[in-house]
Amino acid sequence: MNNNKYKILLVEDEVNIQTFVAALLEANDYQVILAQSYLSAKIMYASHIPDLVILDLGLPDRDGTVFLRELRQKELTPVIVLSARSDEKEKVRALDLGANDYITKPFGSAELLARIRSSLRMFRHSSNEGKLPGGKFTLGELSIDYDARRIWIGGEEIKLTQTEYNIVAFLSEHCGKVMPYSAIIKAVWRESPDESSIKKLQVNMANIRKKFGAQPGEGSYIVNELGVGYRMDGDQ
Ligand code: CA
Repeated sequence: MNNNKYKILLVEDEVNIQTFVAALLEANDYQVILAQSYLSAKIMYASHIPDLVILDLGLPDRDGTVFLRELRQKELTPVIVLSARSDEKEKVRALDLGANDYITKPFGSAELLARIRSSLRMFRHSSNEGKLPGGKFTLGELSIDYDARRIWIGGEEIKLTQTEYNIVAFLSEHCGKVMPYSAIIKAVWRESPDESSIKKLQVNMANIRKKFGAQPGEGSYIVNELGVGYRMDGDQ
């Protein structure tokens, strides 16, 4: 018996999806707590204090975003939103409300498990690893010295412009979480996002990827979530 199992609260009213996801999680050694509505999610959260929440947005009593907003007023517990909506605005809205990630139905088992691992790792990063004492960050071969504003991969220093550094540092501070374009633009350029600033971000990101030695289609620490934003992730 493994007492260190991660506890996952699965909030989903569709029986088929609930059964499928619960079986998948249990088969992968997670402990699963179930809720079928906004109200039961609140009760189950308070009584079990899960390590991660998988949250359907279309719940019978309230919208899932209500639960998310209330949770974020006091907790940093990772939340992965399950959405039937392929609309990018919905995803961005959930991310802006504090979701760590989203997955659009129908989704594959491997994809969901990868996103769970990534969100749990992010949470460990933000709570005790990642940012090491002395303003340092490490993720696999990547390391960042925030005080010196310098970055290395595998011991080799990567020379970035100030803007490129600011983008990478911002993503590292939110490691594992999908950061919408708007959030990155506000943090780096202190301006409201529009088409030209998104373009500017994409150009900078292309340069960062080149300097990181990423091959086309490869993540290399920064994953492009098409049409939504970017995520720093070591699981690749
Ligand atoms: Ca639903």
